[in-house]
Amino acid sequence: MSRLLESYAAGSWYSAPDEGRALLDASTGEEVARISSTGLDLAAMVDHARGVGGPAVRALTFHQRAGLLKSLAKHLGSDKDELYALSARTGATLRDSQVDIDGGIGTVFSYASKGARELPNDTIVLDGGTEQLGKTGVFLGQHLYTSRPGVAVQINAFNFPVWGMLEKLAPAFLAGLPTIVKPASDGAYLTEAVVRRIIDSGILPEGSLQLLCGSPEGLLDQLGAQDSVAFTGSAATGATLRQHPSVLHGGVQLGIEADSLNCSILGPDVATDDPEFDLFVKGVVAEMTVKAGQKCTAIRRAIVPSGIADAVVEAISARLATITVGNPTAEGVRMGALASLGQRDEVRKAVQALRGSAEIVFGDPDAVDVVGGDASTGAFISPILLRARAGATEPHDVEAFGPVSTVLTYDSLDEAIALAAKGQGSLAGSLVTHDPEVARTVTIGLAPWHGRILVLDRDDAPESTGHGSPLPVLVHGGPGRAGGGEELGGIRGVLHHMQRSAIQASPDMLTAITGRWTKGSAQLVDDVHPFRKSLAELTIGDTIRSASRTITLDDIGHFAEFTGDTFYAHTDPEAAAANPLFGGIVAHGYLVVSIAAGLFVEPNPGPVLANFGVDDLRFLTPVKAGDTIDVTLTVKQISPRNSADYGEVRWDAVVTNAEGQPVATYDVLTLVAKTLAS
Ligand code: NDP
Repeated sequence: MSRLLESYAAGSWYSAPDEGRALLDASTGEEVARISSTGLDLAAMVDHARGVGGPAVRALTFHQRAGLLKSLAKHLGSDKDELYALSARTGATLRDSQVDIDGGIGTVFSYASKGARELPNDTIVLDGGTEQLGKTGVFLGQHLYTSRPGVAVQINAFNFPVWGMLEKLAPAFLAGLPTIVKPASDGAYLTEAVVRRIIDSGILPEGSLQLLCGSPEGLLDQLGAQDSVAFTGSAATGATLRQHPSVLHGGVQLGIEADSLNCSILGPDVATDDPEFDLFVKGVVAEMTVKAGQKCTAIRRAIVPSGIADAVVEAISARLATITVGNPTAEGVRMGALASLGQRDEVRKAVQALRGSAEIVFGDPDAVDVVGGDASTGAFISPILLRARAGATEPHDVEAFGPVSTVLTYDSLDEAIALAAKGQGSLAGSLVTHDPEVARTVTIGLAPWHGRILVLDRDDAPESTGHGSPLPVLVHGGPGRAGGGEELGGIRGVLHHMQRSAIQASPDMLTAITGRWTKGSAQLVDDVHPFRKSLAELTIGDTIRSASRTITLDDIGHFAEFTGDTFYAHTDPEAAAANPLFGGIVAHGYLVVSIAAGLFVEPNPGPVLANFGVDDLRFLTPVKAGDTIDVTLTVKQISPRNSADYGEVRWDAVVTNAEGQPVATYDVLTLVAKTLAS
């Protein structure tokens, strides 16, 4: 008998006392492992996540969490042969395995990098600026995101045992949540191997990742209002989870990614000898055959102009004829097996249903030539292309989760958009066109029904990642039938796991709560110029109030000549007088900002290493010759960098004229040494 998979629960590996259910090699039918969760203490797992994992993750800043994710991705990226070998047993070719394993690791890298670059070195995230809620500015509002003291449960589909886990784990971990992973039983031996590597590495804090191999029955009963479930799988299971009392009445947040009848539309502008024709055909064939079509984003409906449909069918069929089906470990195999014989039965049933309104034009659900395997013991099936009859309904309803696609035809763009919408909401759609008008019309028509849309033509094709690849930086999920959930999308995917609250308070209280200086709160002026202070010595609110300087006509003329910016408003008195906003010569905005820098700078070598930019620069009041300005610079935010001897300091800058009107406002961004050089 093969090995029983273990769960990682409450700090140790758990082996069920019974024999469990056999998990079979998708190509050979041999037993790979057994699975059971009998006797697993699910309540203890949830307690461990909430009591041990969560506090440990939340004690880290976003940058520290990002650093751990980077270490984890590097660790998983070394020596993947064992993982590829296990992946082959799920029916995956090497290319399929790379999508799953390397794609998953790449997603963790991407989140590590985004977390370090786009999140603060803090444990909360501010959302937008302050809102003044009263007349004088003593009562303000600020939105912020905090980590939930709950657990993120993920229930995954069989098709991506590694990517499915890592693409959910990385954003949840960054958000400060511990995760319990429940992989689909088919292929769970691969997920278990990866979790074992993660746990053995000791990189993630204890309790931040647990694994449940086998049935999750009873798990949702343990969850409450601070917990979330991210589910990927069938619409039927999704519907069951939606009805669970913990979801209906207990406040558990449920994200669903389920069946999706994704489409690809060929634009009416494309002729058979255009590069876009080939791109369309290749795209459909790739989506049908990668992972043997077991991809939630695969193209199920190819929507093409009726005049070109014969040529499309012929070209797709010709390409499909070159696909060798078989055991993924055999030489020359381009498409492996489905996940199980049960899945093959499901696909055959779905093809039968599709035949209610479509003809098979390529392939046979019951017969396939197999290389290095046997269709009686392995879950092999040939690619199957169907062509829909007019008014077909099944292609918009039936998801054949395998190498199956249906060609549908349209006579107008409106009809193409309407056909796409009949899928009732999809994860991904694509449009292959070289016509900008078609691109705009179809994209805007499709967008409300889709989570992601690829517009493919000869220009972006060289770098295109294809119709079916979810990317960590782009939203993955779709409306309606696709589940209504949203994952990934860069930092959006992190914020989905966090709670946004509106905080109402005085400026001083907001500064204390957010760790970021709020306009109107205390400003600290002392004898030491803040540019003489190291990061360790600077305090939020440290302020310089500069001396003042009067801007002369000579200053303006000199700046114009020196920089070459001789725009009439700075150089031509008559033309400037006719300008309705200025009514005469005004100083360049950049002159004002440059003079302000001269007013606030402390010129000697010191802890300030560089100025790396300004944010939110606005010129509010024109400065004329004879106007006197000064500048106030206040430390707004201090962000030490984990892996450097310096950190970032954001300064609030306000340039004011003699009447006290703000002339320019902006944030100055500097790099400051952590300690003073001795
Ligand atoms: P399921 O919905 O049956 O399984 C998905 C996950 O849910 C698995 O981890 C499964 O565990 C778990 N699960 C099953 N029942 C429950 C339950 N009552 N409570 C909690 N968790 C549960 O889908 P399959 O993976 O079996 O695939 C079936 C069909 O779903 C496919 O043929 C395809 O049509 C569709 N599908 C769609 C996907 C998409 O993203 N669009 C992805 C995958 C599948 P276990 O494996 O242990 O049963």
